[in-house]
Amino acid sequence: MGPSTTDVVVVGAGLTAALVAETLRDRGHAGRITLVGEEVHRPYERPPLSKGVLTGTADRETLFVHEPGWYPSHGVELLVGTTAVAIDRGSHQVVLDGGERLPYGSLVLATGARPRVLAVPGGPLRGVHHLRRIEDAERLRSALAQARRVAVIGGGWIGLEVAAAARTAGAEVTVLHRGELPLERVLGTELARLFADLHRENGVVLRPQSQVVGLAGAGAVTGVALADGTSIDADVVVVGIGVEPSTDLARAAGLAVGGPGTDQGIVVDEHLRTVDPHIWAAGDVASSFSPRLGRYRRVEHWENARRQGALAARSVLGEDVIDDRPSFVFTDQFDLGMELTGDLDDPARTRVVVRGDVPGRELVAFWLDGDRVVAGMNVNVWDVAGQVEELIVSGRAVDESRLVDPAIPLEQV
Ligand SMILES: Cc1cc2nc3c(=O)[nH]c(=O)nc-3n(C[C@H](O)[C@H](O)[C@H](O)COP(=O)(O)OP(=O)(O)OC[C@H]3O[C@@H](n4cnc5c(N)ncnc54)[C@H](O)[C@@H]3O)c2cc1C
Repeated sequence: MGPSTTDVVVVGAGLTAALVAETLRDRGHAGRITLVGEEVHRPYERPPLSKGVLTGTADRETLFVHEPGWYPSHGVELLVGTTAVAIDRGSHQVVLDGGERLPYGSLVLATGARPRVLAVPGGPLRGVHHLRRIEDAERLRSALAQARRVAVIGGGWIGLEVAAAARTAGAEVTVLHRGELPLERVLGTELARLFADLHRENGVVLRPQSQVVGLAGAGAVTGVALADGTSIDADVVVVGIGVEPSTDLARAAGLAVGGPGTDQGIVVDEHLRTVDPHIWAAGDVASSFSPRLGRYRRVEHWENARRQGALAARSVLGEDVIDDRPSFVFTDQFDLGMELTGDLDDPARTRVVVRGDVPGRELVAFWLDGDRVVAGMNVNVWDVAGQVEELIVSGRAVDESRLVDPAIPLEQV
């Protein structure tokens, strides 16, 4: 018997997959839904892994997207601890690691991303950590409780969040990063400086222009060697040098992956459809077309996983919908909470203006292209992300003097 056209299989059982299943059931889908996940857990949220889980304020039970009973009560089959090893597009089947074949009518690839590994001598030493999964975070939390000197390799969001957590745990912390400032390529110099100041004021040492050439130690790591001939002592090293999308399955199945402007993701249209009409991709792994931006974007953030999980489900159900909102990311580091709305390709091509108090770190910053807002970041100021989004989406010309005036509500700028 062939697959029922209503059977939906989702490969990956992360946040995106959870939202696919939830949305399908919410919208009345009556067919089978199966999530195949190589991790042993039901879908969970990763943001606390570099924040509350490390500082001990969030434990495992708070991470899961749904209660265990939600899956059976919604008729969602959860095959955890199971890896999908191939897609047979001809017979509409997913091949599992045990050899079993799972038929699909519609297939959603939500395989996410995995941490980039540092290709230098000493990578496998004890005390060297990557951070993606619950087990990684719990191992790192235990290590931080004993750590004296922590070196964080990489000055992106996760590197800085780990640095803040490690410092809060009482360790000496050094962040080894490329360029002059962490986050400089993401935020531009002015706002990257805000994060650099925050970390320095909290006692984190920032090492600019660092190129790591090796890790030292016999059995356990003792330090990090840099290209300039210097080295940093460390008993814990955290590698936070970005992720790569998990596209092997899609590539082996002959789906379009990567190519100019797609940031190595599975290429999908604005409805998250691949070139195969029975297969969709969503979340960290997908490079989806944005009609508003006129280009592809691959977004590695929590809100995108939620939005695209929901959108993929609706698209599978045949709804003619898109979700072309500006990207949204948040972070928490020390006493700073921030939300960033917008898609900044190249901050250097924009101009930054600020309403609020930069030294006091209570502000909303805007990136302007001419007189249009292309992105906005609220720092320790809340409930404005919706207005920032509206300024971006409307594409309307703004009066800069009104934009920076905190007395004028953003919707009146
Ligand atoms: C430590 C950390 C902190 C973060 N903090 C923030 C934050 O503060 N703000 C923010 O906006 N975003 C944050 N993110 C990003 C956010 O968590 C991701 O964008 C989100 O998890 C993406 O969800 P996903 O379901 O698309 O992919 P994933 O979460 O990667 O899930 C994909 C799942 O698919 C599984 N899989 C892969 N291949 C197969 C296969 N062949 N067979 C079966 N299963 C497979 C993987 O093992 C994984 O479990 C953070 C991420 C991490 C790791």
